[in-house]
Amino acid sequence: MLSVRAALAGCGRRALSTSTIYEGYGQNLFKGAVADKYLKAQGLSAATLDDYTWTSKHADKVAAAVSEWAAERGASSYCHWFQPIGSSGVRHGLTGQVQNMMLHFAADGTPKWDFKGKDMLKGETDGSSYPNGGLRATHTAGGYLTIDPTSPISLRGDTIFIPSCFISYYGHALDEKTPLLRSSEAMSREGTRLLKLLGYNVAGIQSNIGLEQEFFLIPRDAYSKRLDLMLAGRTVLGRNSPRGQEMCDHYMAPLSLAQPAIDAIKDMQKEALKMGIPLRTRHREVAPNQYEMAPLFGSVTTQIDQNVWAMQIIEEMAAANGLAALLQEKPFNDINGSGKHNNWSIGTTCGTNLLNVGQIAKASGSTDIFPVIMAAIVSAVDKHGDLMRSAIASPGNDFRLGACEAPPAIISTYLGEDLTKYFEAYTAGSSDAYKPATKQLSLGAAVLPTLEVPAEDRNRTSPFPYGGHRFEFRAVGSSQNVSMVNTVLQTICADAFKGFADAIEAGAKPHAVASAALKAHWKVIFNGNNYDPANQAMLTERGVWRIDSGVDSICRLTDAKNVKLFKDMGVMTEVELQARQAVGLSHYAGTVEIEAKCMIDMLNQQIIPAVADAGVGSVGELKAVVASIEAGLSSIHHAADDVAKANAARALRLETMVDGRKVVDDVEGLVPASKWPVATYTELLFLDQTNGSASEELIEHS
Ligand code: ADP
Ligand code: MG
Repeated sequence: MLSVRAALAGCGRRALSTSTIYEGYGQNLFKGAVADKYLKAQGLSAATLDDYTWTSKHADKVAAAVSEWAAERGASSYCHWFQPIGSSGVRHGLTGQVQNMMLHFAADGTPKWDFKGKDMLKGETDGSSYPNGGLRATHTAGGYLTIDPTSPISLRGDTIFIPSCFISYYGHALDEKTPLLRSSEAMSREGTRLLKLLGYNVAGIQSNIGLEQEFFLIPRDAYSKRLDLMLAGRTVLGRNSPRGQEMCDHYMAPLSLAQPAIDAIKDMQKEALKMGIPLRTRHREVAPNQYEMAPLFGSVTTQIDQNVWAMQIIEEMAAANGLAALLQEKPFNDINGSGKHNNWSIGTTCGTNLLNVGQIAKASGSTDIFPVIMAAIVSAVDKHGDLMRSAIASPGNDFRLGACEAPPAIISTYLGEDLTKYFEAYTAGSSDAYKPATKQLSLGAAVLPTLEVPAEDRNRTSPFPYGGHRFEFRAVGSSQNVSMVNTVLQTICADAFKGFADAIEAGAKPHAVASAALKAHWKVIFNGNNYDPANQAMLTERGVWRIDSGVDSICRLTDAKNVKLFKDMGVMTEVELQARQAVGLSHYAGTVEIEAKCMIDMLNQQIIPAVADAGVGSVGELKAVVASIEAGLSSIHHAADDVAKANAARALRLETMVDGRKVVDDVEGLVPASKWPVATYTELLFLDQTNGSASEELIEHS
């Protein structure tokens, strides 16, 4: 494989020094100038790491450099750091690791610093105790860890973290990362082949992503009084605060009003920057006490690893500042939940963005490439919208999708009027190049300069809008590890690129291939308001993929069309897909069971005694709610198989528990505030307006 550095050398681009931008930036990431210093001492350089064959050629020397760096920064342990199947960010579930000291002990017990190439390249662990969907069992538990050289080693505290893949004794992927890397290779292979047929030779292509991470920050003492938040990350009951987001006064509001949240966010940025995670954007989001951070985009594996780190850092720095971070999709009723927009583009390894019409034309000298690539993506979305939906089927997302805060579970794409018109002409035979129009906006006051803006508006209701230089998968959930999301995007594109390349190789003209694909898949393009029920009905009628239930969408993984797709692209075998489906279903049912049990305990142990004590009646009604949830739990336990269990769980959560909470929330309105035993929505959501102190007073009341 050609090294990234070698590829960059031919691109006429210069690496910028980061050291002047932020003191200490990336000191805890073994990469670039930081790594170079230690690698030079071994006769290597940072460029060694860009050619991934270093793992077979220079492992001992790289390990020696890594140990020197680690020792100088006070680290003495290492681990293979991996992402088990189905890992999500609700309660620390994202990564696996066993930390070992970088020491060996001599026969007389003397410790000796010892960290070799073999220690770094490979590890072994029990594969049966992580979610494995039947790929491992207690008596057949072998699991192996192997370094992922595409993502740099990082350091935190006294430990270095080696990004790793996790596979079974038989080579089945037990993690999120292995299929992602396979899909990266498939997309690069087929994309490079297609570009070559279009007259543009590139060393490889890759996905670049930027993940906008949304989350809530709430007072930790109030959080600690809520069993549901502590154990499930979501409030299963709680009467609305008199104030919600009626005034639209939270989005992008001053952060300075949000002490101590802003202190926590600054700490998050500081911690992240040390590890070379460029979290550059911070702002308040639509709901009270909701925030967003976004990094500068970069290559898909590194970004995912860094997002996984960012989620952990967000939780830790929140706690350090007396707050609790909620990463779950829908922690509160009737206010917005949290997403994680997966901004995605495809670039050459030289950094030319294939989705940027001007850039690709300039780099390749051809204006024919952009429409072909776009047509391939449009066709992929139409064919495999079910898989895109499946990739975002986290339980929390079932509350969010289609609730007018996130797109509906109907997978269409927005191209914008300008580009859509261009493709209309293109499919009618025009071979003109696409020139994105702009328009001039006069602000009506002579002192203000005229503004040039794109001809395209923004469509925030679309699950997958094109935004000029990137698609933005907006329906992704906040708690997700987005590996599967990007595995799907890359696999469906690889398949579309292959289809196009095969046709062109067989003699078809690229324009004809792209036109035919656009015509066949035109129905998936929708520029209107996706929140409008009439449009949703129209799209459903048109046959655009619509899967409302998270459980149904998880089950699409083993559909024959999709088994064939993943097999053909070399991304996952049928057994690996079955395992992911099993993990998805049991994760779904398990999430609901935890939430239901929290609700029962909160009712029996806190709310019913408090209501009885307050003497406001209603105890019988509350007991009936408990009974209905218990019946729902029993139906999960007695369901015949995984699918039936997950469906029973979905009904319990979206019907029984929703009905039950209405009863409880009404009762909350009758009980004196001083007697209500759990933190209220006002206490949880309005910390910012009170600078923390009034919240504490309110909490003391309760
Ligand atoms: P917005 O809210 O307008 O979508 P943000 O600035 O909050 O924008 O986040 C946009 C994210 O998209 C950032 O992480 C940014 O780095 C990323 N991004 C920008 N351009 C690209 C691109 N070409 N490919 C992938 N990601 C991109
Ligand atoms: Mg944003």
